[in-house]
This record gives sequence, structure tokens and C-alpha cells, in this order.
Amino acid sequence: MFVELVPLLQETVVVPSLFQEFLAAQADPDGGHRLYDLYAEEAPVAFEGRLLRKGEVDREAFAQAHRDICLQGIGRLPVFESVEIVSDNVEEDGGLAVGWFSARELGDGQLANVALGLRLEGGDWRIGWCLVASALQYWSYSQGLLQTLAEYPWLLADQPVLPRSSLDASYCRLFRQSAVDLSFLPETRFGCHMSGACCKFDYNIALPPAAQVLIDAIPWEGIKPALKGTKLEVRSDGQLQLKANRETCRFLDERRQCLIHQTLGRQPFGPCAVFPFAFAQTPDGVAVSTSLVCGSVRNRLGPSLSDRQDDVRERLFLAPVRSPDGFRLAPALEIPWESFRRVETILLQLLDYSHVPLHQRLYAGNRLLDALRRNEPIDLSAWLEEPPGLLADEYRATLRTYLSKIFDWDRRAFAGLPRGLSLDLHHDRLRDEPVVVDILRNLLFSKVYSYPYDLTTAHNMSILLYVLTVIMQSSVEGPLPDELWQELAALGGHGLLASLLPDSAPQGLKELLGSSEFGQWALWY
Ligand code: SF4
Repeated sequence: MFVELVPLLQETVVVPSLFQEFLAAQADPDGGHRLYDLYAEEAPVAFEGRLLRKGEVDREAFAQAHRDICLQGIGRLPVFESVEIVSDNVEEDGGLAVGWFSARELGDGQLANVALGLRLEGGDWRIGWCLVASALQYWSYSQGLLQTLAEYPWLLADQPVLPRSSLDASYCRLFRQSAVDLSFLPETRFGCHMSGACCKFDYNIALPPAAQVLIDAIPWEGIKPALKGTKLEVRSDGQLQLKANRETCRFLDERRQCLIHQTLGRQPFGPCAVFPFAFAQTPDGVAVSTSLVCGSVRNRLGPSLSDRQDDVRERLFLAPVRSPDGFRLAPALEIPWESFRRVETILLQLLDYSHVPLHQRLYAGNRLLDALRRNEPIDLSAWLEEPPGLLADEYRATLRTYLSKIFDWDRRAFAGLPRGLSLDLHHDRLRDEPVVVDILRNLLFSKVYSYPYDLTTAHNMSILLYVLTVIMQSSVEGPLPDELWQELAALGGHGLLASLLPDSAPQGLKELLGSSEFGQWALWY
């Protein structure tokens, strides 16, 4: 796969001087015109949120955008000095060259390996790409171009500082990882065991449009010829559809390896790189939850999250972090973050009381939320023992209709359930309780339900998920198949809320699903 490279002769002076010129123009807010001229016509550049060839961008507009980015990023964009050339090579046809430099970033004092791809254009050497690599590599010009294109899908996303080029983007990805405090559930573990479950599961994955340029640039003829010419479908929102529900991703090979990851040595697509993690911003830092669709997370295999924080931080750089618009006890009942965190902690602890039946723990959590809302006395010990109440027939009928509608959703896993599934709830049929508890704790901790939803809605969703689990377990002999566990985990991740309470749902329904009464009815059902 590596291209035979030979040392440069007369170009040995050109390569370092072009790199120095590039760095000077990049660092200068008024250097946009010079930077534009230094780039080859084919060089990929990020412009107005899109990935384009330099030749497609107006010189004046490019210079203006460069100036704006420089001014916005003063004090935050990387500044390189002490540049030393490490190696330079020209490819056999003499029109393409790759140079490697060691450069120190001024603020961090970090030594970086920088690669520069040059191409001969009209008798002059021009810059085709430039980026920081984790180690010196024997890249050909086109391999370096591919690595550069891999920076773009996330380079175009919102980042703490807008990069001027792929050089900035790759440096920040490798060396400017967020130092934010991370919190996670202590029991969470993860190590990829290449089950491929995440690439096959029944959900959509969307990518930014720049991903298509990267897919086009991959030399598929030497990897999997059938994928040559692959064009991802453009959705109505302008995003690209990597895979639809019920589809296995076309880039997953027979050995359950991702061909994109294999080819590039890392995963450039944000949704894939981030899985199974999800991030929620809080005033204390970032809460890291995990998808239990992944068998490794569900079965607690692999290192704990506290032992893989560097990995989590690198992924954090590639993913959107959901931000709250407030913290709520119940719909429209805003509370301070400290109170929210305290109540969430008690609910999580209650779920861990393994000596008490799970439905009773959920009931105590429900009563706690109700008492807090009404400003009434709290007595968790009594609630953990209180016998269930009686549900009026009309509510039971409404809940039955609700549950049967959920089982009618067009989901691959539900199709495997027995026809005429009994909707009766038998608490004593609960099995594999630790896995169910992990799913429910993750549901609460993920805070998906808190933005813009709230603790009571979140807790009600966990009760509903418990009810669905027991109904499924009552209908299947032995352990639930993986497909059903994945479905329950996905419903706990965001599926129940997104499907039951889309933004467009009537206010009355939002209030009902966010009321403590709803949680109680579901438990007494
Ligand atoms: S691109 Fe790779 S990691 Fe992402 S879904 Fe496809 S096979 Fe899986």
C-alpha cells in the first residue's frame, strides 16, 4: 500500500521554506491572500461550514474568512515555532512530495510531528495538505491527503476554537483535549469487542456532507471494489444517511471490522467515534453516559471509565455535548442544579437497593418526587415497604392501550416476540435484574430526559421501561435474546422519550407523562 519514495534533491530547500511561508501566512490575520496562493488548486479547505477545493473558493472571500477566524481565535489558536525538517521525499513521477517536520507549539511547549504534502502546479510547488500526526509515518501524498480529509467532518462542526486549517484541527484533536471534569456511573465499563452491534442495530446514523469527500477519496479498488463509487443518500436536512433503520452499515466487513477505521487507522466519523458514549454538560463538568446497546457495556466488560479517561476525552472532542436549558423536578418546575443533582443521586442509590424488589424501589423514587413537588415530608423507609395501591379499571385500560401501541412499533426486535403477547404485569417474572438496573440507572444518569425534560418524566420513563422488560421476560422462556436487550437499552437511551414525547406532542400529554400519578399507575398496573 505504501508508495516508493525517493529523497528530494533540488527541492530540499523548497519544502522547508514553503512550510515556513505557510506558517507565517497562517499566523497573520492579513495573510489570507498569501495563504490562498500557497495552496494548490485541489487542496481541501474549510469555507463557510463546507469542505471545498481551494479552486472553488473566491480569493477575496477566503482572505476575509481567514482574517475573521484569526481574530476570533487570538490567544487560542496554535502558534508553531522551532521548526526542523525531519525528512522529505518526492514521489516517482516527480510531481508530488511529502515533507515531515518537528515543530514546537509556543503556548503548550508541545513538540508535534507535522506532515506537509506538496504538488507541482505550473512549475511551482504548492501545498496540497498539512496536518499533525501522532507519529512520523511513511505516507504517500495521497495517503496524507486522505488523513487530511478525515479531519474535515468534525473540523466543520462546532469546536471550542474555529481552526484556520487542518493543521490547527489535527493539532487540537491530538493535543488540546478538554480538561473538563468528567462524571460517570462507577460501574460503567467498556472495551470494544468488535461485535459490530453498533453498526447493525436498528437505528439511523447521519453524517455531515464532508464525509462524502472522504469516502470518495478512499482507494476502494484495493480494499473492497464493490464500494467504489459509493454515494450516501442526502437527507432532507442536508445530512448524509450512513445507515437507515434495519440496515447493516455497508462499511462493516465480513470480519466485523469497519473498513473506514481500518483504512485510516482511526475513526473519523463523529457518531461512530463517539459510540457508546453520550455527553451532557452540567455546571460540574460533563456527565458521560453509555449506550447499553453495546454488549461490552451491558455485560460490564473492559476497563472502567475512570481507567480510560484519555480515550473518553478524545471522543469528547468529536461529539456534540448536549447543554441544558434548565434543571427541572417536573415539567415547568425548575430547580437549582445542586438540588437536581441531589435528587438524581438519591434516585440512583434507590435503584441499587438490591435487597428490595425493583418495583418497590421505583415506587419509593416515585413517592420521593411526588413529595418534593408537593413540599411534603419524606419517608423513604416507609415507601420502600408500602403495599401497592389499586388501579382503577379505566386507567388500566388506558395503560394497556398504550403498552400495546409500543409493542406495535415497527421495530425488528419486537417482531420476534410471540403473537398475542400477554400484557399482564407479573413482578415476580423479572430476571437478570442487575442488567435491568444498569439500563435504568443509565437512563436517569444520561440526562437525555432532563433537557428539556425533567426528573419526574425521566423516572416515569424508567418505570415504563421496567414494565416493558417484565412483560417481555414473561413472554420468553429463558434469558432474553441480545436483540431484545439492545432494544430495551435503546429505548432507555432516548427511544421511549423521542417516540412518546416528540417536541410536537400536545402539552397535556407532556404533563401526564411528567406527573407522579402516571408513574404510580404504571407500577400498579
Ligand atoms: S462507518 Fe464503520 S463504525 Fe460507522 S457504522 Fe459503519 S462500519 Fe460501523
